Amino acid sequence: MLTTIIYRSHLCETVPVKALEEMVAAANIKNGESDVTGILLFNGTHFFQLLEGPEESVFRIYADICKDPRHYNLVELLCDYAPSRRFGKAGMELFDLRTYEREEVLQQVLDKGTTKYQLTYNDRALQFFRTFVEATEKANYYEIPAGDTWDFIPDEDDLPSGPLAVDETADCGFAFQPIVDPFAREVVSFEALIRTHTGDSPQAYFKAFTGNDIYQADLDSKKVAFAMAGKLGLKEQALSVNLLPMTLVNVPGAVGFLLNEIEANGLVPEQIVVEFTESEVISRFDEFKDAVRQLKSAGISVAIDHFGAGFAGLLLLAQFQPDRIKINRDLVADVHRSGPRQAIIQAIIKCCISLEILVCAVGVEKAEEWMWLESAGISQFQGHLFASPRFGGIPAVAWPEKKAGL
Ligand code: C2E
Ligand code: MN
Ligand code: MN
Repeated sequence: MLTTIIYRSHLCETVPVKALEEMVAAANIKNGESDVTGILLFNGTHFFQLLEGPEESVFRIYADICKDPRHYNLVELLCDYAPSRRFGKAGMELFDLRTYEREEVLQQVLDKGTTKYQLTYNDRALQFFRTFVEATEKANYYEIPAGDTWDFIPDEDDLPSGPLAVDETADCGFAFQPIVDPFAREVVSFEALIRTHTGDSPQAYFKAFTGNDIYQADLDSKKVAFAMAGKLGLKEQALSVNLLPMTLVNVPGAVGFLLNEIEANGLVPEQIVVEFTESEVISRFDEFKDAVRQLKSAGISVAIDHFGAGFAGLLLLAQFQPDRIKINRDLVADVHRSGPRQAIIQAIIKCCISLEILVCAVGVEKAEEWMWLESAGISQFQGHLFASPRFGGIPAVAWPEKKAGL
């Protein structure tokens, strides 16, 4: 299968630009042996490369390139299939943009085409060339430092003393995970994540229920969440809880129940955020919206969880604007290496800025993911990088500290 990969990356300062020609000569041989064509553009700082050839060979060469320390901040822009080669000659061809006029480079690249007709102007690969040459996307190339620029140091001082708030008599428990603003060094909110009474996953807890019982159990569990939060002393802090949208729709008096339990545990509605999973919001939108009206008029904030993972995506924001949205790990994972993830997250951020909706990235595990997301304008994060959920209690937050000497 004929495969095309396009990536861009940044040349390491330690590599002399003169070494480029040797790199290209070596790649020319290596690619040639695998019947892979490489077209490389260099603009003085950034590489832009297209690799084209048999799938297995392209993936193998690309994997080697990803490990090559001579460049960094490598971002995959395109991975696609085509019926025939755009560029006939296998091997490697370098175009140094500093030595060409802009128009000329594109013509030169086109001239390398197998036939003029294959490089149609609506071909995505060719459009990527054009955009790189014209540098119109350059503002979106966030140059992030290496992941080990930061240490993540758990702050044990902030922890409440005393025992864990596990209630042995309740039939569920909760783990708490902070949502943090690392630069402000501030916990923005704690999310209560449901567990079985022995600390097993939400899935394990909900497995025990069928039909409408699941909604009742979901609602009832919030009594335990608020009680634990009260015991843990989270009085001044925002507290996020998850609910199935249909819990509010199906259980009569659900909002009243929540308000009662909030008050009974010394909490106030204004500190509570209810998170709904996007895909579930959509199926009975009108009823859901009605329930949200009740929450909002009582002072409770609303967040859309797993944003972008469901089928409604941005359309949902046209119909309903929550106070916050949470972007899930499905999109966040390795965002610093993926052009498509970057483009989607930038679009979500832009949308949320225009609508004054707070954005939080969830499932942040790598320093590079965090740095890229900060560069893109996100300031609230939840993930193992900062703190994992702690059953019955509050975990210490590992705040990023610049490594000494950097
Ligand atoms: P969620 O609301 O998106 O919660 C975040 C989930 O991501 C949690 O999984 C958390 O442990 C996990 N997580 C946090 N940081 C990281 C990370 O860095 N990497 C990875 N891989 N995962 C991370 P958990 O606790 O298993 O919860 C799963 C889902 O179950 C939640 O996703 C939420 O949708 C649902 N859930 C949790 N509690 C409740 C509840 O009380 N009611 C309802 N209806 N659903 C709940
Ligand atoms: Mn959630
Ligand atoms: Mn999740």
